[in-house]
Amino acid sequence: MKILVLNAGSSSIKFELFDMPAETIEVRGLLQRIGEGESQLGWKVGDESRKLARPVADHAAGLRWILDEIGVGGAGPAIGAVGHRVVHGGEAFADTVLITPEVERAIEKHAALAPLHNPPNLLGIRVARELLPGVPQVAVFDTAFHQTVPPHAYLYPLPYELYTELGVRRYGFHGTSHRYVAERAAVMLGRPFAQTNVITCHLGNGASVTAVAGGKSVDTSMGLTPLEGLAMGTRSGDIDPAILPFLERVRGMKLSEIDSMLNKKSGLLGLSGLSNDMRALLSAEAEGHARAKVALDVFAYRVKKYIGSYLAALGEVHAVVFTAGVGENAAPIRERILTGLAPLGIELDLDRNARAIGVEADIATPASRTRVLVVPTREELAIARDTYRVARPG
Ligand code: ADP
Repeated sequence: MKILVLNAGSSSIKFELFDMPAETIEVRGLLQRIGEGESQLGWKVGDESRKLARPVADHAAGLRWILDEIGVGGAGPAIGAVGHRVVHGGEAFADTVLITPEVERAIEKHAALAPLHNPPNLLGIRVARELLPGVPQVAVFDTAFHQTVPPHAYLYPLPYELYTELGVRRYGFHGTSHRYVAERAAVMLGRPFAQTNVITCHLGNGASVTAVAGGKSVDTSMGLTPLEGLAMGTRSGDIDPAILPFLERVRGMKLSEIDSMLNKKSGLLGLSGLSNDMRALLSAEAEGHARAKVALDVFAYRVKKYIGSYLAALGEVHAVVFTAGVGENAAPIRERILTGLAPLGIELDLDRNARAIGVEADIATPASRTRVLVVPTREELAIARDTYRVARPG
């Protein structure tokens, strides 16, 4: 059964076509700059890459182009189901679901909580339904895995009505990735998932840490929105909320300006004044760039603090797991994060760490009580598996 996985952003559509249950990737690619003049479509079939450019007015024209080029739907092989990445499912979805009109309405309702993400995700769903009539559409939510987080971890110490009336609480994101790498970690550890405690660090441009107890998410660093938690590429993560009124008072900044600053001009970019890109910062630091160093110090220190707090939350931890662009590849950053944690039972093997780049590996010393694992994330595969589980015939 062919499963098309779609991740629709405001001006892009990321896609991956799987044959399930074999899990073979047939095509993967990205359409960028929708509605911005010349759009670019790049995709890979096996080892062969292709690139095309032409104006694409909207998501519907974009998806039509993708389907034509990759030769599915229409005259080509039939698609059995489409799996959509949807960022915010609020409290309504603790698992993957078949999309019905009711589900669509719920995704629309949650747009207030994820105004940058849910509207384009929903557009992707509507366009796919139009172009592939009768094909089951499935929604896989970034928030779903974290629906097991208990109230003491998801409630903010604010007036309770903000939660009951407006849904102001921690939801958490990157759930599909945290779940996938936690499950892989259990396999690598040789433990049943339901008896596995891990701390998963998804460190990409966006970054979050999750505490998993007995295979369930029990706390996570992102909150109502993806702004909370770690210092990220351009997001501040945790700050004193009183900085907001302070900036209003002394700088006359509007809330919308502060919001944009916190999301787009802070984090690694804001501190370094150079880049949000980890590779660029590591080379700048090597050349003596002082603010690149301080940005990396802050980044690593904050991951370390979250690991420490989740060690306390979980008690027993079988592994700390690193994933996403930085977590999978940046050995010097993993080293920086874990340095000094030996007294807490986490001991990195420096040689194993340096060798583990983009591959699954155990990089702890043999004596380390808690294992340290690198697990490349495969969110699209996780979405394809879920979609197959929900939409397969019979
Ligand atoms: P996104 O959140 O955009 O999906 P990714 O998971 O792709 O992000 O991670 C992007 C980050 O990973 C960038 O900061 C990039 O510099 C970093 N990264 C990728 N490869 C390496 C590498 N080999 N060494 C260090 N950092 C890397």
